[in-house]
Amino acid sequence: MIDEEEEDVEKLLKRKISWKSVFKGLLGLILLGGAFTLITISRQGGEINITYFMFGIVLLCIASSVMVPVPKKKNELRHTVSIHKCAKCGNKRVHDYKEGDFVHKDSGIMCEECAGNYKIFEVYSIKLKARKKTKTT
Ligand SMILES: [Zn+2]
Repeated sequence: MIDEEEEDVEKLLKRKISWKSVFKGLLGLILLGGAFTLITISRQGGEINITYFMFGIVLLCIASSVMVPVPKKKNELRHTVSIHKCAKCGNKRVHDYKEGDFVHKDSGIMCEECAGNYKIFEVYSIKLKARKKTKTT
């Protein structure tokens, strides 16, 4: 269930990023074209027109900064959870990750269904949207 959610979020993010990068690429090309046009114009008529030339250089800088992929900001919300699974009946529950949690660790929680012991079955971090989706019990 959580796996599916994560997949969807990731797909969404990928689509967003690719759309953005296409847009950035186009913008960069337009700026680049403008920059070269300005530099070409600035050199017409023997003397270099400093104003046009400078504008061209500035545009060139903007274009390169737009086109170079910016490393994604690490402000995405991540949440680490531990999946506990009953060793006897396979009941699963999700808990917030606690320091020292590791897979196969005896979690010390007793199963409500069969009084078996919960063991940590999986530990992983999930991406979160603005609001918390993770259910913790
Ligand atoms: Zn159980």
